[in-house]
Amino acid sequence: MIFIPLRFNYCPHCNKKIIFKIEMEDIDSRQYPAPVYIVHKDESCNKLSTFYVDSLLRVSYMELEKKKGGIKTLETIP
Ligand SMILES: [Zn+2]
Repeated sequence: MIFIPLRFNYCPHCNKKIIFKIEMEDIDSRQYPAPVYIVHKDESCNKLSTFYVDSLLRVSYMELEKKKGGIKTLETIP
C-alpha cells in the first residue's frame, strides 16, 4: 500500500473542496478517531473546523467548531 498524505474533502462551513496534507505527527495517536484542526485558507471562508481521522489518517467525520484534543492546526493547500 502506498501511503499518500494528501486528503481531499469538503469544508464543513462552505462545502467547497479542500485539500490538506496530514501525517502521523499531526495527531495524538493514543485515541482514534483523533482530532486535527483544519483551517480553510480561502478568502471567503478562512474558518476552522475539527476533522477526526482514523489510524490510517482517513477522515471519519468533522465538526464545525474547535473541539478539544487536537495537537496541530493544518491549513488547506490552495
Ligand atoms: Zn470553507
